[in-house]
Amino acid sequence: MWLTTLSAAESLALLMALLVGLWALFSGQRRYGAAATLGLGLIAIGLTLSPWLWGTLLLLCIALIAVDYLPIPALLSKLQGPAHKARHWRQYRHYSQLVLALAFGLAALQYVLFVWQLQQGEVTVARPDVVDGFLPLAALLQLKGWAALGIWDSNHPAALVMLLLAFGLSLVVKRSFCGWACPLGWFGEQWYQLRRKLWRFEWQQRWQRQQSRWPKWLQQGARVGVIGLDWTLRLIKYYLLFRAVNMALNGLPDNMLARYLAGYYHKAADLKMFALFIQPSDKTLIGLAVVLLLMALLRGSLCRYLCPFGALMAVAGTASPYKVRRDCSHCLRDSKQLDCQKCSQACPSRIRVHQQRTVWSDECNSCQRCVAACPAKGGLAVSLPQRYAPLTPRAMLLILIGLLFVVPLVLHSLGLWQSELSDELRIKLWRHLQQLPMF
Ligand code: SF4
Ligand code: SF4
Repeated sequence: MWLTTLSAAESLALLMALLVGLWALFSGQRRYGAAATLGLGLIAIGLTLSPWLWGTLLLLCIALIAVDYLPIPALLSKLQGPAHKARHWRQYRHYSQLVLALAFGLAALQYVLFVWQLQQGEVTVARPDVVDGFLPLAALLQLKGWAALGIWDSNHPAALVMLLLAFGLSLVVKRSFCGWACPLGWFGEQWYQLRRKLWRFEWQQRWQRQQSRWPKWLQQGARVGVIGLDWTLRLIKYYLLFRAVNMALNGLPDNMLARYLAGYYHKAADLKMFALFIQPSDKTLIGLAVVLLLMALLRGSLCRYLCPFGALMAVAGTASPYKVRRDCSHCLRDSKQLDCQKCSQACPSRIRVHQQRTVWSDECNSCQRCVAACPAKGGLAVSLPQRYAPLTPRAMLLILIGLLFVVPLVLHSLGLWQSELSDELRIKLWRHLQQLPMF
């Protein structure tokens, strides 16, 4: 049944998403929706014992949608909570990132155990298919195989699903995968904050202090130089993305792509990735050390300069109708002529929000820190054009749970998520990992 075919890590991840969804309802004082979700979930458990996670999660979404978008809240207006405050955005984003990080952490642990059992020659632990989400190159090749040849790759289907979902999420709410879901982005922020606790050095402040002693013309020149360097470094991630897409599109002609997708090399893609990390070459270790150092010194540097996945999300995000929009009639700068820059000061991507009406920057990851920092009611919002349908933290969470948890679950039931490779074949692939032919 569904539950038994899901790995333990994936089941736990779904359970965490469910709990966060319930918390979202309760914290927003939508107790009607939370109680309805809980009640319907319990009925679902009673009626259909094995796929209880299924029933509960789907009902959670129905309740979330009902409470947020149908007239039920208006009828129960007394039960509704106050307007969203800054701490709501922080909490919602924090819990969303934490759940995703824990989910991937659990999956990673279970995968390590799975590979260890492969090595022993006897497997009792299920392989969490979500690990295929870390195979972006395989996903691009699968995408080409699917679009050009009509081949649905059943070796690592979750790789393509995760790529499409992250892309879709960015199309809906600009690059929000980076700001709300990516476990690497979350780790980068924790790593940077840890470094700040241990060593409070801030190169930006130090640099600004130094500059203030220079003559004006030199300050201008230095500023142009820093902006130019920043732009050049930001191009690195687009270059890496271009290389990956080019390799996927032009690296293999169609007839060879079909053979590659059916071959042992592709079947062992996840094992090869795993081996890269447990038996790293000197180059890999040096690369990792440089990236860790950069992440510790410069906030968000992995996402800003190096991540090709982030570049893909940024490209998708340009088409998103949801953007950070500043309402000049409420913003304190225009309405009261105050020198407020709180939105810009809060932005981890160093975007000059206070000078723009709509934030178009490819570096905006929809983290909403600027919205949370704005002291003017209605001054800033992530919304559709004309500030229509501003996004609430709960709606953001709904979109995330829907796209990153419920859709994979539905695809799982349709057999479009799990890999069809047998454990016996994987044992053989692991034993001959270094001798596998490409085709
Ligand atoms: S502009 Fe606002 S939403 Fe975008 S990255 Fe900066 S703080 Fe986050
Ligand atoms: S924080 Fe709000 S009030 Fe201040 S500049 Fe930004 S949008 Fe205007």
